[in-house]
Parts: sequence; structure tokens; C-alpha cells
Amino acid sequence: MKPASFRYARPASLAEATALLAEGHGEAKLLAGGQSLVPLLNMRLARPAVLVDLNGLNELEGIAPTPDGGLRIGALTRHAELATSLAVRERAPLLAEAARHVGNAAIRNRGTLGGSVAHADPAAELPAALVAIDARFHVTGSRESRILAAADFFRGLLATALGADEILTAVEVSGQGPGWGFAEVARRPGDFALAGVAAVVGARGPLTLSSLPPTGEEEGARLVGFGIGDRPLRLTEAERILTGARLDASTAGQAGAAAGRGCDPPDDVHGSADYRRHLATVLTETALLQALARLETSRR
Ligand code: FAD
Repeated sequence: MKPASFRYARPASLAEATALLAEGHGEAKLLAGGQSLVPLLNMRLARPAVLVDLNGLNELEGIAPTPDGGLRIGALTRHAELATSLAVRERAPLLAEAARHVGNAAIRNRGTLGGSVAHADPAAELPAALVAIDARFHVTGSRESRILAAADFFRGLLATALGADEILTAVEVSGQGPGWGFAEVARRPGDFALAGVAAVVGARGPLTLSSLPPTGEEEGARLVGFGIGDRPLRLTEAERILTGARLDASTAGQAGAAAGRGCDPPDDVHGSADYRRHLATVLTETALLQALARLETSRR
């Protein structure tokens, strides 16, 4: 099928883009990489009156270091750049790894960080990774700008806190420590994941402990599942098991079991709810064991 007709606009500035959204009164849509939106247009599941093309807005480009050892990453950053950028691999390695798992090479070359976040597919890798690393989202509307915590941004199935005249301009992340893991299962390479888990053990910055750290209140373990709920899902029961406990093979297994118990995954043609619950169990344990191995390596 072909899309229904729409007006095409290519604004020259962010202010012009937000003004076009405001004038559109909910009938305008932003176009970034087009990897989610264009199929929806072609199937006429989306019928915007105006398409506002963000490509060419310099304000949304670039990956810049921040003083806390983190990064400010422009919304138009392509998945391929996230996956290969040295700065992202050094300062936010979980995000780089998550980007490597998005779709196939052609999709990663066009799809953008901002588009993935704004589209809010519950099986998407980047939103879960961003919740796990506690990212901040910079948002600009026609009247004001604001910063939202990743955890407050995702509101449900393909639903976010973005207003009709708002544009996600950048994502800010703090420098990440060595304790992280990422695991997913998809039916074929390039498919959306059936389920996945992003894990961060220990808070920000490099750990300096000489023995295995307890993943206590101060350090914290953040576990976020995708494909197992209507949005990136904090696996809080599993996190509680690790609070104040030593992370080892046994506690990783217990946390995995708690993750499986603590989610209510969808049941569809791709996989049953029971199978996804099983995946949540195994993938949580796997991601935690990866994090443990990285912590051990970092102390050698
Ligand atoms: P677009 O398609 O251009 O836009 C998507 C939505 O976000 C639109 O509603 C648009 O208006 C809005 N939007 C875009 N940018 C902004 C912004 N800066 N501010 C506010 N709103 C904005 N994704 C995965 O995560 N994992 C996968 O495994 C995966 N596999 C895929 C396989 C296939 C075959 C295809 C076609 C897609 C797949 N995707 C997957 C989706 C892909 O990652 C998209 O790139 C991403 O979801 C959307 O990014 P985009 O830049 O293409 O956004």
C-alpha cells in the first residue's frame, strides 16, 4: 500500500519544527529514520496531515562528553553510530551493546536513538538500556523545554510522556561502571526480541572495592526487562534480592527466578507468556553473570 497524502515540511530550526507541531494540533508527525513510521504510513495505520522531517536539524546531532564522565547524545544519532562510537563504548557500553542488537544493518544505518525512544516499542532494546542506566531525556516544546528521567518517560504500549508539540532533542547519560550485562532472545537475527534484560550492577563510575562488592542500597542493581511488559519493566523483586547481598552465581539465579515471577508478559503468536517468563528468568541470570564477570575482570 501507499501512504495517505500528507504535507511534507523540512524545518530549518528546532523552533520551526516545534511551531509546525503546535500548528498541527496533534495531526503532525515527526520523521526521523522512518524505520517505524514509514511502515505505519504505508499500511495507513498512521495518517498524519503534516510530516515534519527532523533530518537536517543540527541541534539534534552529535555525541558530546559531559563533565561527569557521561555523554549527551543527539536524538538523530543513528543506531549504527551508537553501536560503534568509541565514546559510547567507553562511557555507556550497555547502550552501545543494546544498539548492536537493534534490527539489521540497514535499519541501524537509518533508525535513530530519538525515534526508538519516542516510538516506545516495549520490545525495543534502547529504551530498556536507557532506563537501566538512568538516562535523562531532553525535550523541547513550542513554549518550554524540560528534562525527564527515562523511568518517567515510558507510559505504556507505544505511549510516552511527550506532548503533541514536543521533540526529544537529546539523551544524557552518566559515565557507567564496569558492572553491566545485556542478554536477549530473538527468533532470528534482526527480529525484535521475544524478551531481553539489561542489568547494571553498582552505581556510576568505576568501582574501587578490592573484594566483590555487595550490591547494596548504595551500589544498587538496576534490572530492566523488555518484551515482557507494556514498557521497559524494572524487575524490582529481582533487584530486592540483590540489595545488600553479595552478587554470585547463587544470588544471580535467585534474582532470575524473582524476575520470572515478577513479570506478566504478553502472550502472542511469537511466544507464550510462560515462555517469555522463562526467558526473563534465564536472561536476568545471564545478564547478572555477565556483569559479575566484567566486575571481576575490572579488578584484575
Ligand atoms: P521514525 O520511524 O522516523 O519515527 C518513529 C516515531 O517516533 C514516530 O512517531 C515519530 O514521529 C517519532 N519521533 C522520531 N524522532 C522523534 C524525536 N526526536 N522526538 C519525538 N518524536 C520522534 N527496533 C528495535 O528497537 N529493535 C529491533 O530489533 C528492531 N527491529 C526492526 C526490524 C524491522 C524489520 C524494522 C522495519 C524496524 C525495526 N526496529 C527495531 C525499529 C527501528 O529501531 C526504528 O529505527 C526505531 O524504532 C524508530 O526510529 P526511527 O528513527 O526510524 O523513527
